[in-house]
Formats: sequence, C-alpha cells, structure tokens
Amino acid sequence: MGLYRTEAVVLRARELGETDRLLVLYTRSEGKVRAVAKGVRRPGSRLAGLEPFTLSELQLFQGRELDRVIQSQPRRGFRPLREDLGRLAAASYLAELVEGLTAERDPSPALFQTLVAGMALLAQGPDPLLALRFLELRLSALAGFQPVLDRCARCGGEAGPRPAFAPAEGGVVCAGCRPVSGAVSLAPGTLASLRFLAAAQPGRVEVLRLTAGANAEMARALVGWVSYHLERRPRSLDFLEALYLDAPRGLC
Ligand SMILES: [Zn+2]
Repeated sequence: MGLYRTEAVVLRARELGETDRLLVLYTRSEGKVRAVAKGVRRPGSRLAGLEPFTLSELQLFQGRELDRVIQSQPRRGFRPLREDLGRLAAASYLAELVEGLTAERDPSPALFQTLVAGMALLAQGPDPLLALRFLELRLSALAGFQPVLDRCARCGGEAGPRPAFAPAEGGVVCAGCRPVSGAVSLAPGTLASLRFLAAAQPGRVEVLRLTAGANAEMARALVGWVSYHLERRPRSLDFLEALYLDAPRGLC
C-alpha cells in the first residue's frame, strides 16, 4: 500500500527516544494502526496535533511493524478532554475500550464515527458518565458483542418483572435463568433505559434522565459487559473512579 491518507484519532501516545512518539491510532480507512511520529517533539516539527484524543487528517507510510506518520493536519482538538480531569478520565476509558475491542487493520467506518461522536459528547456534553454508558453499548455492538436486551438471552422468553444482566449469558436474563453469580439485578426502568441507549443516536443520549439507582445498575451491568469481553477490568476505570466521588455507586 505504501503511502495512504486517512482521518485518525490518537488513542494513546508514548514518548520514544529523544524526539519521537509512538502512537496507537484508530483510522477511518484502516482501523487500528500503530505508528511512529518521527521528530514530532522537535521544535518546529511539521507534525502538529498528534496528542491523545485529537482528530487529524494524516498521511502515513505503511511499514512492516509500524506505520510512519508523514504529514498531519489537525481537524478537531477536543480540548476539554485534556483540560478537565473528569473528561480526560472518561476519554481515556473510551480510548481503552476502542483499543481493546478492535483488532489491527480491521476497519469499521461506523466505529470510527462513533469514536468521533463519543469524543465530542465527552468534550462538551453535560453528563460524561451517561455518554460512557451509551459508548460501552455501541462500541461493543460494533465490535461484534451486542448484548441481548429485548428478551431473555438464555431461554428466549420475556425478561419478566425481575430481569438481571448476566455478561456470561449474553445480556439480559429472566429470573428463572439468572445464574447464581455474575449477574446484576435491573429494575424494569433500568432495562428500558438500556434499550433506549442501545438504539439512540449520539445526539439523543442526554435526554435520558436516570435515578441514582438506575445509574448504578447500568454502570455495573455495562462495565461488567466490557470487562467480560476484554477479559480484564479496564485499567482507566481506576482513574475515572478516583475522580467521580460517587464512583462506588456509579461506576463499578
Ligand atoms: Zn430465561
């Protein structure tokens, strides 16, 4: 392929040597890509804007192990994501989800669009935690792990009046199918909110108003869902929980 141009979001950046930076990018045309930006930390470098959570138009050269950034043109900076600690923590979690749920060079334009819309929601929206719930649902669905929400994931019957969310069963389960451990009880209203978020457009997410109890149930269910599919608890959750004081109730 040699040279190619694409839009890309920087998911993660690490300093390399004196002047270089190692990047994990999510690109529109190639999906997740690892790349090096040579000389980016030199004064006067022409490679601008290659900070975490920025959207840029890049020209890259495909290498055997790492691609190389040849040119970069910043498009959107999402500055609040680097200036507000709570938003930074939320964006770090979003980036970790995208990196963890995707394979290299497996492009999904829909996932790319969701990532960009998610960055905008986290940068400007009034409720970054609710936005994260939406993003957990949407990104896992786009990565091929859509939870069953419209019926019991195990028996296919109605979720019933006492539904629960069980990641190992694939989503919502009825009371009769609920496993002994590893399930989160859901109030019927919480299940309705999950269904709403699973189908929502990004711009509609924040019309949802949740009680503290529904927030906590939804967070436990969806953090459990992504952890199950990542096969680990996301590292950035610790940072997020440290910043949101109601975290024990709201996040895990
Ligand atoms: Zn069932």
